[in-house]
Amino acid sequence: MKNFIKAVFSMLFLLGVTFSEFTFMAFGSELPKADPSDWNLILVNKQNFIPKDFDTELAELPDGHLVDKRIVPYLEEMFEAAEREGAPLAICSAYRNYSYQAGLFEKKIRKCVKEGQSYLEAYRNAAFEVTIPGSSEHSLGLALDIVSEAYSTLDSGFEATKQGQWLRENCAKYGFILRYPKEKEYITGITYEPWHFRYVGRDNALYMTENSLVLEEYIELLEKEKED
Ligand SMILES: [Zn+2]
Repeated sequence: MKNFIKAVFSMLFLLGVTFSEFTFMAFGSELPKADPSDWNLILVNKQNFIPKDFDTELAELPDGHLVDKRIVPYLEEMFEAAEREGAPLAICSAYRNYSYQAGLFEKKIRKCVKEGQSYLEAYRNAAFEVTIPGSSEHSLGLALDIVSEAYSTLDSGFEATKQGQWLRENCAKYGFILRYPKEKEYITGITYEPWHFRYVGRDNALYMTENSLVLEEYIELLEKEKED
């Protein structure tokens, strides 16, 4: 056994692998050098509304959807790769301005009230499913609802489609994360959305995916790191 360990270490030595690299290989990647104030990490949720003065340069995609100009190359790369690998994607929704979001929210409340719920109940349900105006990432231009031509309904069934699977496995390589995973609903406050993807940058996305962290947890981790 001793000889075996010796042999492994001398082999690593010959290969030029230092101990820190060895642990890196064994235990995953290091926390990226990122700051919670980076443009691609801006956190928007029910506790963190979009800053009033938020302004971003938008670009129009060939299908007419708008996104933050800075994410276009990564988005294109991801769509090309998906197409090559037999899972062509389609965008269902991208940037939405505040008043559009407010309209969606009110519509949902009206629907719930019509179904017999009290206004308070309806508000609560709408907040869980639609997101309160000002708290939607879609108003950042960094979030997209991605589906396929064959399956364009926004429901949990999308996760079983080829596109849903492909996105889960590959989106991080292009800097995107599945923003509202099933097992983290209690943190995000949003029901599982297998179609909603958010750009955070490649290193951040890979780290978060590898460590099963949602944006809320990742920001907290970065903030803690800053304090230390
Ligand atoms: Zn969405």
